[in-house]
Amino acid sequence: MNQDIARVIISEETLLHRVQEMGHEIAHAYADNPDGMTIVAVLSGAIIFLADLIRFLPMKLRVDLVTVSSYPGKTTRSVGPKLTNYSAVNVRDRDVLIVDDILDTGSTLSLVQAELTRSGPRSLRTAVLLRKPGKAPSGIEANFVGFDIEDEFVVGYGLDYDGMYRNLPYVGLLRSHLYE
Ligand code: 5GP
Ligand code: MG
Repeated sequence: MNQDIARVIISEETLLHRVQEMGHEIAHAYADNPDGMTIVAVLSGAIIFLADLIRFLPMKLRVDLVTVSSYPGKTTRSVGPKLTNYSAVNVRDRDVLIVDDILDTGSTLSLVQAELTRSGPRSLRTAVLLRKPGKAPSGIEANFVGFDIEDEFVVGYGLDYDGMYRNLPYVGLLRSHLYE
């Protein structure tokens, strides 16, 4: 698997260090909430970030999961996100933090933010591990951002290409001949 990677963009050590820092930032922002917080994580790309991040959050919290798929099969171009398992999520009057892997065009986050807003949370904020520059329209923003990266298709640490490479402990670039 490692031989499929052309370049490491963010090392395992750097990821963990920054995710721990984000945990402190988020814990600080929700410190005054006696009822804790509700995390709504976006599957599947956020799984590793979610698992690492919540272990740096020492307060009471719930985790709900929603599925948004925008890159079916062997494509690196989004076909427009779809939300598929929203019904079980209960965020009314809760302090909600959306957790997603990457903010690119912003269409995933705007979809999830719009759905959650309709359910009447007390507050709604967003944390993303990665952000690509300049494509999201204004208004689609994340309150907590791990890293700004170049506009390149990356894999690892939860992010996939055709379902694979999520288990790489770092974020990297695939060798170009592997893309279809
Ligand atoms: P947006 O809706 O903001 O354009 O894209 C967000 C979603 O697209 C992310 O949650 C992620 O699943 C996927 N995505 C965007 N850029 C990349 C990338 O560089 N690599 C991978 N693997 N997925 C990406
Ligand atoms: Mg995603």
